[in-house]
Amino acid sequence: MNNPLVILSGPSGAGKSTLCKKIFEKIDNYYFSISTTTRLPRDGEEDGKDYYFTTKEKFKQSIKDEEFLEWAEVHGNYYGTSKIHINKSLKKNQLTILDIDVQGQENIKRNTKNIVSIFISTSNLSTLRNRLTSRKTDTKEQIDKRLNNATSEIEKIGNYDFFIINDDLDVAFEEFYHIIKSCKNTISPDLDIKVFADNWKK
Ligand code: ADP
Ligand code: 5GP
Repeated sequence: MNNPLVILSGPSGAGKSTLCKKIFEKIDNYYFSISTTTRLPRDGEEDGKDYYFTTKEKFKQSIKDEEFLEWAEVHGNYYGTSKIHINKSLKKNQLTILDIDVQGQENIKRNTKNIVSIFISTSNLSTLRNRLTSRKTDTKEQIDKRLNNATSEIEKIGNYDFFIINDDLDVAFEEFYHIIKSCKNTISPDLDIKVFADNWKK
């Protein structure tokens, strides 16, 4: 059976990267999608590890060349998921996880049947503000932009299969882990039930 494509979204600072880092210590046979972005690298971020960092010109060329499964403008920068890596990992039946924004989720949901989507958030805006401030990776202007976007992102929760509130990291991780573990038990839309039932009877 095919694993679903797992999509994580949620406001910047909600803890998506933190939860992913923890889960990758506990699972194997997964692929975490590395997006391409025109955003500048933050301190400590590496090209090819955190993102593929590129220019607006090259990004626009990749759009023309239809290299992206989806792309969007987020917080004033372009971000996109390359088809090539996703197709490779799906072929290997790896659990494929994408950290993309709400627009990306909507685009993929329109064209892909086998997805599980998870929305991750804090329980309120002020916790998010504190997180982004203490993370110290963004300027005040960037933080304001991210908080502003968070309000409209929250309104998209209804498009998702699961919702995790990451206030207490241990609780959120436990919930995340259970969802990820159960992904391999979802029934793929590609499953030929007749063939399965015929084989099962033998
Ligand atoms: P995202 O990837 O969603 O933008 P991060 O994983 O970078 O968010 O988390 C934002 C900041 O909040 C980081 O400094 C991280 O260490 C911290 N953080 C994440 N989860 C929690 C939590 N449950 N409680 C307190 N701080 C957290
Ligand atoms: P950051 O700049 O904090 O790394 O990411 C900002 C936002 O861009 C996050 O909401 C993240 O989920 C989203 N994002 C990262 N990669 C992609 C991508 O490939 N496509 C889309 N649509 N959003 C992305």
